[in-house]
Amino acid sequence: MTHVGNVPPPAGTKPPPSKPPPSKRAQNTLLRGVSEERCSFCAKWRREVKALITSACSPEIFICNECVGLAAEMLGEQIG
Ligand SMILES: [Zn+2]
Repeated sequence: MTHVGNVPPPAGTKPPPSKPPPSKRAQNTLLRGVSEERCSFCAKWRREVKALITSACSPEIFICNECVGLAAEMLGEQIG
């Protein structure tokens, strides 16, 4: 009796460590619409504003459309 089909992986190639998916938590909050989502600038909840934009760097940082509009206005005044 010989066991041929069950060969161990060659030395040097170890299986990758099981790491958690990167943005599962953020996805969950999005799906559940949890109250964690609020503007980091004016602290309004998602339901209180038209749109909430997530930071590209951190899924826990948001800015609402009102703050974006305000900032654009201020920048426009400063630049122009
Ligand atoms: Zn805001």
